[in-house]
Amino acid sequence: MDCLFCKIAKGEIPSTKVYEDELVYCFKDIAPITPIHYLIIPKMHISGASEITAENSAIVAHIFETAAKIAKAEGIQDGFRIITNCGDNAGQTVKHLHFHLLAGVKMGWGPESVQAVE
Ligand code: 5GP
Ligand code: ZN
Repeated sequence: MDCLFCKIAKGEIPSTKVYEDELVYCFKDIAPITPIHYLIIPKMHISGASEITAENSAIVAHIFETAAKIAKAEGIQDGFRIITNCGDNAGQTVKHLHFHLLAGVKMGWGPESVQAVE
C-alpha cells in the first residue's frame, strides 16, 4: 500500500523522530502550525478515526498515554492540544490515522477555530 505515514513509521521516508515504541511513532510535523507540533501515529495502518473499531481501539488509549509521556519528557508544562482530522470536511490530507500534538503557545478556542472554508 502506498501510504506516506506507513513509510515514515518504517523509516523508508526520513522524519525527525520524537518518540517510538513497538506500537506507535511520533515525529515533528513538516509544516508546524505551533512552536511544538508533533504527529503521533500507530505503526499499523488505520486510515482515520472513522475506522476505529472494538478490535483496534486499544491503540487510541496507547496514543494518549504516549502523548502524556511525550509532554512530560519534552517539558511541555503549559498545556497542549490533541487533534485528529477525519475525512475531507475536517481537512484530513494523509489517510493514515494521526494525532496532532500542538503546544508552545496559548491557543484560541471557539467558532473561529473551526471556521468554514467553503
Ligand atoms: P492532516 O491535514 O491530514 O490532519 O495532517 C497531515 C499533517 O502531515 C500536516 O500537518 C502536514 O504538515 C504533515 N505532513 C505531510 N507530509 C509530511 C511529511 O512528509 N513529513 C512530515 N513530518 N509531516 C508531513
Ligand atoms: Zn499507512
